[in-house]
Amino acid sequence: MDFKRGIIMPNTTALLPSLIQAVANAIENNAIELTELDQAIGDGDHVTNLQRGIQTLTAQSNELSQLDWQAALQKMGMTVMSSIGGASGSLYGTLFLAMSKNLNNQPLTLTTFADVFLKGVEAVKQRGKADKGEKTMLDVLIPVAEQLHQNANTPDVFEQIKQTAITGAESTRDMVATKGRASFLGERSQGHIDAGAKSSQVMICAIVDALSEKSTTPP
Ligand code: ADP
Ligand code: MG
Repeated sequence: MDFKRGIIMPNTTALLPSLIQAVANAIENNAIELTELDQAIGDGDHVTNLQRGIQTLTAQSNELSQLDWQAALQKMGMTVMSSIGGASGSLYGTLFLAMSKNLNNQPLTLTTFADVFLKGVEAVKQRGKADKGEKTMLDVLIPVAEQLHQNANTPDVFEQIKQTAITGAESTRDMVATKGRASFLGERSQGHIDAGAKSSQVMICAIVDALSEKSTTPP
């Protein structure tokens, strides 16, 4: 165990089935709210898109847990890209594929995860030609990636990330959408949280909670 780190991560892909299950449960538990958000300023398919991808990942869970992180992230990227559909499919696919590519052969620790997650989010920005402040999932992903990168070694980083994700999703409420379907509404998109930002927040919080249960803080 590395006592220099704030949090000690169990870092094998044997984690993946339980993380995928945690994400599946969280989306299921928030399905009604997320669908209403996508109906308000999108086309209402966001939850079914995500669930299609999550079901395929669940079916691949055992296989994924036999791979190393680089191969698992690559397989997840391809799966998500082809099964989710919609804008979010290609964006989450890009995230996982870029994380895999940047991980190269390094072992996955919280520090290397923070590094490749930041690079993955950078790839999502390029793929979607979008940035913070445009009322998308990036309003959660960017601040979370930056915070994780800066504070990966602090003991309460998981709690900080959850708060940042919640604040990021909430911040989209007053924004005018300039990317994705919601941008067709212009100023009428104001007053609603973006569905993709909210689902990112829900998934990040679910992953953090699942990891917290499995991690130990050094004495
Ligand atoms: P679609 O918009 O094709 O129906 P989804 O409903 O699955 O796809 O996903 C919509 C979400 O995707 C939006 O709520 C937003 O968060 C995100 N999104 C859309 N376009 C972009 C973009 N260019 N960059 C980043 N995120 C985007
Ligand atoms: Mg949609």
